[in-house]
Amino acid sequence: MKSDKIKISGKYGVFDNSLFMIRQAMETNPAVLWMTVLQALLVVTASLLELYGAPVILGRLERRESLGELLGTIGFFSLGIMGVHALSAYLENNQMTVRVPVRLGIIGKMWKKVGTCSYPVRESQDFIRLFAKATDASMGNSSPAEEIWNTFAGILQNLLGFAIYLYLLTHVEPVIVTVTLIAAAAGFLVSSRINGWGYRHRQEEAQIKNRFFYFRDKVRDRRLAKDVRIFGIGDWLGELLDKCLKAQEDFHLRRERAYLFADLLDIALTFLRNGIAYGWLLQMTLRGNLGVSEFLLYFTAASGFTAWVGGIMGGFSKLHRQSMELCHIRKLCDYEEVFRFREGKSLAGDPGNGCTIELRDVTFRYPGSESSVFSHLNLTLHPGEKLAVVGANGAGKTTLIKLLCGFYDPSEGAVLLDGVDIREFNRRDYYRLFGAVFQDFSLLAGEVAENVASFDGKTDMERVRECVEKAGLGGKIEGLPQGYHTHLCKEVYEDAPEFSGGELQRLMMARLLYRDSPVMILDEPTAALDALAESDIYEKYRDLTKGKSSVFISHRLASTRFCDRIILLEKGRIAEEGTHEELLLLGGSYARLFEIQSKYYVEGPEAEGKTGKGGFDHRKGEQEDEK
Ligand code: ADP
Repeated sequence: MKSDKIKISGKYGVFDNSLFMIRQAMETNPAVLWMTVLQALLVVTASLLELYGAPVILGRLERRESLGELLGTIGFFSLGIMGVHALSAYLENNQMTVRVPVRLGIIGKMWKKVGTCSYPVRESQDFIRLFAKATDASMGNSSPAEEIWNTFAGILQNLLGFAIYLYLLTHVEPVIVTVTLIAAAAGFLVSSRINGWGYRHRQEEAQIKNRFFYFRDKVRDRRLAKDVRIFGIGDWLGELLDKCLKAQEDFHLRRERAYLFADLLDIALTFLRNGIAYGWLLQMTLRGNLGVSEFLLYFTAASGFTAWVGGIMGGFSKLHRQSMELCHIRKLCDYEEVFRFREGKSLAGDPGNGCTIELRDVTFRYPGSESSVFSHLNLTLHPGEKLAVVGANGAGKTTLIKLLCGFYDPSEGAVLLDGVDIREFNRRDYYRLFGAVFQDFSLLAGEVAENVASFDGKTDMERVRECVEKAGLGGKIEGLPQGYHTHLCKEVYEDAPEFSGGELQRLMMARLLYRDSPVMILDEPTAALDALAESDIYEKYRDLTKGKSSVFISHRLASTRFCDRIILLEKGRIAEEGTHEELLLLGGSYARLFEIQSKYYVEGPEAEGKTGKGGFDHRKGEQEDEK
């Protein structure tokens, strides 16, 4: 989205985007199309009835026709106008029922893309920005994705009206048509330049709004509540919010000033162009070239003609703007994937518990990053092996997991599944090998059972119960009024229970068990637990991961004892490797860290009791507050 230039033709041009909307309507609700055409036809019909009403009645009066005929004509036009307006109003009131499903269909496509796109795409700033813009273009009834139907109806009605009035006016005096066309075009160009002020300043407006929303969210953020109080940040935040509000007020004032000028100019130009057209007609009437009823007809037609011309130009300029907004939606949906999905190979057979995953000569740097996290790293996860990964913050533990799971592809080298480069597989198939408890795990506003079964559509309640029981959360869930059907997430369900960080981790563990995948990833699964719960969970993991390959990241070295092999990452390479005992005997970094931690446990029981942490990686503090 580097260029803001309006494209008329080609991919994502005005025409292409209009076709896109029409295709969406055909897919979701074709009624939108005929309602749009009908809406345009009704407006033109009403306008014609209003145009001809007075002159026809006046003509009958001039010709002194009978009262019956006069009343009949008046009745015809009055009822006609009323009927058409009533139908128009009915359509307008009901148009949302057909338009909203089309817009929701588009939003559904966007969300599907965001939920299923390649992980590096989801993480990229370009995609994130595009998603925000596409969301703006599709949220709400007045967003371009819904408003565009009004624009289509407007353009159609203005084109029809223009053609009819043009035919009518060229019969009287082509000069009026020419003058009106030129005057209308000039007026439109001047006023659209000024009316475009808001559009030209939209970046500035977005910046002011973003800043305001950022600080407002900070004020509302529960996780900040403690810091705000302890450090007295409240007043400072208040001041910043006031500044943002003032900036918003100033911006609106500037905009109103610009628009006021546009309105005044528009009035002057309308006065000028109508004056010329009406003067001409008046002069023709005075010379006896036009009758009174004809004068009235063409007088009304001249002003109507101006409105159609303005309407066409205004309609297309609105369509251009809306088309630019629709580009965001279309570019998002068409965003190029970096992984293979459907076109990739599917995993041969059921790997069960017996797959080997190998990082072969892997070098990796994050997109846009200068330095590599890993250089020429080699690591093999054998079938059924329990591998522990330890290391200081920033050593590359999480990145290693991302590479193993196929969230990122190596910059050089390859990740191999049973000897085959994983880039050849359908990546979604590959993900099925894994079950994981990540640091920032996700719970959705659904039932407990659905969360455990990962919303797979066919929840096996018996298995859910078994897994929750094994994770040590059975008593808690069964004690809830609606048991396994209790809804989670207070933001959505007011009566949702509050779970502690530890309980949430157990729930995630139950989900992992339910998935029963050959490879289990445990990325600091006990970070939010107190020491007793932690040791209970380690015991459980020992049993739960039996027969499975597992990768276990922990900040607490003692917890990795049950693993078959421990690797210590340092500056993006495997610095030490072996069992817990071997590494202690080695007397290197692992042994040193273990000693420091053990000392801490012995000397700092109070601190430990409160925080449940004894290690060198303290990123998890906030999870306790997220419950
Ligand atoms: P650990 O899990 O051991 O704390 P990480 O794997 O999270 O370490 O990070 C390893 C290195 O990669 C760090 O230097 C970190 O700053 C960098 N890093 C992590 N995530 C990203 C990212 N999305 N983009 C760029 N650099 C990143």
